[in-house]
This record gives sequence, structure tokens and C-alpha cells, in this order.
Amino acid sequence: MFNITKDCRFCDTCLTVCPVEAIEKTYPFYRINQDVCIECGSCKEHCSFNAIEFIE
Ligand code: SF4
Repeated sequence: MFNITKDCRFCDTCLTVCPVEAIEKTYPFYRINQDVCIECGSCKEHCSFNAIEFIE
């Protein structure tokens, strides 16, 4: 699954590239709704801060 780490700088890029609106702007960290995510990898690919990791 994909996970947003503490390196996130809240630039919102992932929100614009996620095709299924799986990313939630929660406080203090954004999170990926795993029930919605289709694991396309687009958010990780586009993150300028390398703040999205893939966990087995
Ligand atoms: Fe959205 Fe794809 Fe990232 Fe999942 S892996 S949160 S579907 S952009």
C-alpha cells in the first residue's frame, strides 16, 4: 500500500494527480484512504518531496 510520510510539505500535488480522490487532507498529516486507493502509484511518481512510500 502507499503511505504518506512525515516528509510531506502539503503542496497538494498528490491531490491533483490521484484519479480516485483517495488522499484526505487530515491533520496533522495527509493520509491515503486505503479503501479507495487503487495503488496506481501516480502520487508517489509526482511527489516533489519523495514523501510517499510503498509498503508491502
Ligand atoms: Fe491515488 Fe494512485 Fe496515490 Fe492511490 S496510489 S492515493 S490511487 S494517486
